[in-house]
Amino acid sequence: MRRLWYRIQRGLRGRRAWIWAGALLLALALLPFVAPAYYVAFGLALLADVALASAWALFSGPTRYLSLAAAAFYGTGAYVTALTGARLGWPGPVLAGAAAGALLSLPVGLLALRLRGPYFAILTFGLSELVRHTVIWYESNVTGTVGRVLVLPLERRTLYWGLLVIAVAAVACAILLARSRWGLALAAIGGDEERAEVLGVRPIGVKVAVFALSAALMSATGAAIAPRWTYLDPHIAFNPLISFQVIIMALLGGAGRPAGPVVGALALGVLSEIFLLQFRYLYMIVLGSVLILVVLGLPQGIMGWRAEERTEDLGRRLRWAIARRIPRRFAMRRQYQLFIGGEWQDATDGRTFPDVNPATGETFTRIPAADAATARRAVEAAERARTEWGELQPAVRAGIVLKAAQIWERRHEDLERMLTTETGAVRAKAGFEVGYCTELIRQAASLTYQASGEVAPSNVSGKVNYFMRKPVGVVSVISPWNFPYILTLRAVAPALALGNAVVLKPSEETPLAGGLLVGEVFEEAGVPPGVLNVLTCARAEVQEVGEVMVTHPAVGVVSFTGSTATGRALAEQAGRHLKRIVLELGGKSPLIVLEDADLDLAVNAAAFGGFFHQGQICMAATRILVEHSLADAFASQLVEKLGTLKMGDPSDPQTAIGPITSPTQLEKIRSHVDDAVAKGAKVLTGGRARGPYFEPTLLTGVTPEMRCYHEETFGPVVALTSVKNADEAVRLANDTAYGLSAAIITGDPKRGLALAERIQSGIVHVNDSTVHDEPHAPFGGIKSSGLGRHGGRAAIEAFTEIRWVSVQTERRHYPFDR
Ligand code: NAD
Repeated sequence: MRRLWYRIQRGLRGRRAWIWAGALLLALALLPFVAPAYYVAFGLALLADVALASAWALFSGPTRYLSLAAAAFYGTGAYVTALTGARLGWPGPVLAGAAAGALLSLPVGLLALRLRGPYFAILTFGLSELVRHTVIWYESNVTGTVGRVLVLPLERRTLYWGLLVIAVAAVACAILLARSRWGLALAAIGGDEERAEVLGVRPIGVKVAVFALSAALMSATGAAIAPRWTYLDPHIAFNPLISFQVIIMALLGGAGRPAGPVVGALALGVLSEIFLLQFRYLYMIVLGSVLILVVLGLPQGIMGWRAEERTEDLGRRLRWAIARRIPRRFAMRRQYQLFIGGEWQDATDGRTFPDVNPATGETFTRIPAADAATARRAVEAAERARTEWGELQPAVRAGIVLKAAQIWERRHEDLERMLTTETGAVRAKAGFEVGYCTELIRQAASLTYQASGEVAPSNVSGKVNYFMRKPVGVVSVISPWNFPYILTLRAVAPALALGNAVVLKPSEETPLAGGLLVGEVFEEAGVPPGVLNVLTCARAEVQEVGEVMVTHPAVGVVSFTGSTATGRALAEQAGRHLKRIVLELGGKSPLIVLEDADLDLAVNAAAFGGFFHQGQICMAATRILVEHSLADAFASQLVEKLGTLKMGDPSDPQTAIGPITSPTQLEKIRSHVDDAVAKGAKVLTGGRARGPYFEPTLLTGVTPEMRCYHEETFGPVVALTSVKNADEAVRLANDTAYGLSAAIITGDPKRGLALAERIQSGIVHVNDSTVHDEPHAPFGGIKSSGLGRHGGRAAIEAFTEIRWVSVQTERRHYPFDR
């Protein structure tokens, strides 16, 4: 079943989408010629459902505003169609109805744009009721036309095709908008208006424009469907279609993805038609009641109760809660908190910031936003806990860390799912990262026994020198969003194992994966209170929280992974306060392909190195240097390979390219590619953003004037350069401020090893991709890529300090002695 669904989705989204869509439209357009009247009427109702649901998805889903203004007045459109029906020829009544509905809904909707949830619904429904009663009063007392019989000389095929056009326009608008920069902004508005501004759009402008579009489409649908009713009764309390659409949108939440609401509308439309045929009045009562319940439910926020949370989280949490295996934190709707001194607590004044799913643009939860004062409390909690933890026997600390590995492994599904939701990681990446971390934590546990020192000879007789490794005390860990589990745990797990207390601050893009979930796992493993503290904060507070984490006197070492710019700023602070800092920063890694290389291997290594996780990897192979004789064949094979990588929903196991993790990052990627193209680079494949996705992009002719030559793009963009020989490859490989990872593909490993020594890089892999790490390997860069190393024994260097203790066993004589 699942497979079939993916196949259908693939067919609809892939290159053959136009053929599918054309065939479907043709079949739909032919229906009135081949089907009896009843089925045409049935088709009409479904088309109206589709048009309405798409118009709704345009606005309501992404913004969390129910566009009830448009919905409410769509009935008015029907009245006007009825009124003008006898006088105007087709499509006059429909156009008049559409204009009337849109004109009424627009001012109400625009005035109410700053209101959300219940207020918006009450105001717009209330006003539409007022209009309805005015019309009824007028018809009862002035014209005496209540229960107007519609006598539209309208041929059913014309009606059907009219609605088909409106439905196609609505679906096309919804799809195009969802994929555009506006759609991205609209999705961002739903959670956080500031994010929309990052995209260079004015949120209110986008809202007004999209609301107007949605109102126009909805009113047109209302007006066009009116002639279908031969008898239009203004006393009908609830228009069944409106009721249905509200319910559908409430349950499915559009969120810029028209497919859900449209499919839902179709399914419910079919049911409704069958039900309506059999039990007309019962149907009205049931729908009316459901609608009342839905509107009453608004104060809790229909949209806060979205399908995703209901189906995935609530069901899962309830199962766990019943099994009583999971403590309070999963029992009910999740409220995430900071973890300080062993207690889960809110941020000062309950401040929070949104956590956004990059694939849908939805805020799926809110995260506490710590400030500097909270950060100080966290460091002080760590300071209080460090001594006792550091003095525990290695076996005890190792036991707790190993328990964490066990819990990590047990929770792998849940952890993988969070990675996909929070970062847009495709299934393969999520599975790899979570699995890798189990090994990483296990490896860290072994360090508890390895922090050994030396007993050294002395120049003074009777003296024994001990060079001992001691925990530094409090370690501050600041991690990025691209591999949040690995890059957090590679510092947190060894720092803890080696006897330190830790204050962790994950990226604001990944507060759960990079922080709070790690806190949960170690809490459950039995880490004593204060030994691990997790602070999450919004972008606005990052600087003040970061400053405390670097400069507080109790902090011994800072472990930072992130961009070179931030690393440099933190290193300056650390320098001023004489703190040690380990920096893992950006990269611009070269992949050299020599003429004796195995072409298949080279292409695969390049595709993986350049495009895994959408190229959002510090070690990504962003510069491919191919020896001249192989360059053309390599380019065409790589382009072909990239064409096979499926881009889209990261939860689909077939997907290779997921969304870019944040709109800001997407803009940066787009600007790098635009800049390169404007300055003469050629796009071999890709080059465009599609909604939150960016196509795998291969450029040639990239020169030093272009931003992407020197700067880290951190996206699926790779520059391919043909080089004369290995010497030129080495020269270009070193022509960068960075020096993190590099790779050489050659048929002669000895030659590869010799070249590796000439490349200025902390890591070089021969006959592999630039993207490779192992828990026990010393990972880190040179030049602007960092200072110090993580991993294996390097972690001992990073998180312990050497103390020299000597013992004098014989009496020592000093120069002042007599
Ligand atoms: P970033 O520098 O924006 O942020 C990294 C972390 O620093 C985040 O937790 C962020 O909240 C925090 N931060 C930002 N400004 C701060 C400030 N003024 N004070 C204190 N903390 C601050 O980087 P990012 O966008 O999260 O990550 C992408 C970058 O990380 C890329 O440059 C990538 O190459 C690099 N990276 C390096 C490695 C490595 O091992 N060398 C690994 C992964 C990512």
